Amino acid sequence: MKSITEIYGLLTTPRRVAITTHQKPDPDAMGSSLGLYHFLRSFGHQVTVISPTNWASWLNWMPGTDKVIDFEASPDKAEEALKNAEWLFCLDFNIFSRTKNLAPKLYEVRCTRILIDHHQQPDADNFEYGASDTSKSSTCEMIYDFIVGSGHRDRINNTIAECLYAGVMADTGSFRFASTHAGVHRMVAELKDKGLDHAKVHENIYDNFLENRLRFLGHVLMNRMELYYEYNTALIAISKKDLLRFQIKTGDTEGLVNYPLSIQGIKLAALVIDRDEERKWSFRSKGGFDVNSFARKYFNGGGHFNAAGGRSPDSLETTVQKFLEAMKENASALK
Ligand code: 5GP
Ligand code: MN
Repeated sequence: MKSITEIYGLLTTPRRVAITTHQKPDPDAMGSSLGLYHFLRSFGHQVTVISPTNWASWLNWMPGTDKVIDFEASPDKAEEALKNAEWLFCLDFNIFSRTKNLAPKLYEVRCTRILIDHHQQPDADNFEYGASDTSKSSTCEMIYDFIVGSGHRDRINNTIAECLYAGVMADTGSFRFASTHAGVHRMVAELKDKGLDHAKVHENIYDNFLENRLRFLGHVLMNRMELYYEYNTALIAISKKDLLRFQIKTGDTEGLVNYPLSIQGIKLAALVIDRDEERKWSFRSKGGFDVNSFARKYFNGGGHFNAAGGRSPDSLETTVQKFLEAMKENASALK
């Protein structure tokens, strides 16, 4: 993988460009994709954003979401865009398997593949160019670096600022995680100078749910959260029945895994959701417990040191048992 700086000089020549990101895009995935979309379009590039799956409806305020192709809903349109693309940007994921059923298509494409991502251990061999930096708060910060580094900071407008701010805000837990280095605040200061209404973005993301989601949260914290104080660990397991009862949609479970970490002494929080096709794990940690390695070792996943995810083909009961065994195996690191 060559440095992304090598394509800076090519930006002013219009091309057909596709942008994709991980399945079930979150604010950083969607914000970086659309921030880059608006930036590239300002040069006259023909740009298509492809999401591997659907996304939370509370992201639909973001400028450009109405143009995003959902690969699962419109596979033909997505494949057409991939076939025609000269450049393919892959944002906010480190390995094609994070795009679920889109992955085989990404391996197949003949065009130039460019990675921009902040996860650990990227699959660099599959990209011609890229920027991969785990010290970055978010992929949105990296899109900002890309715009500024390529000498086009004057193209950042309020539309781009809204998209990029959403991702930085979400991935830094509203600027509280250790990943919030000084450069993040300098970036946000510049976005403010471009006219960003940050309170509006915050409201669009955090005050934009339906009643059922809050009722579900109450139910989960009351009835589904198990604490294993001996291991400083909390586990939330959510069944299909719970999802149906509260009419849970894509995005409604976002952020749930963070709640147990607010309990004194809890170092590891785990959430597993019984999705149709797999059991989806989320892990968060405080301090020195490495959930990236944990997710890789036990649940075919990965991510960051303090935030990672994984999956399992086992039943909910079986995968929970495996988690409890893994927790015990890691007793010394958790204590
Ligand atoms: P979340 O728990 O919000 O789904 O994911 C937490 C972090 O881990 C995110 O940065 C996400 O990209 C990453 N992640 C989630 N699931 C997986 C997975 O199955 N494999 C890998 N490699 N990373 C994941
Ligand atoms: Mn991210």
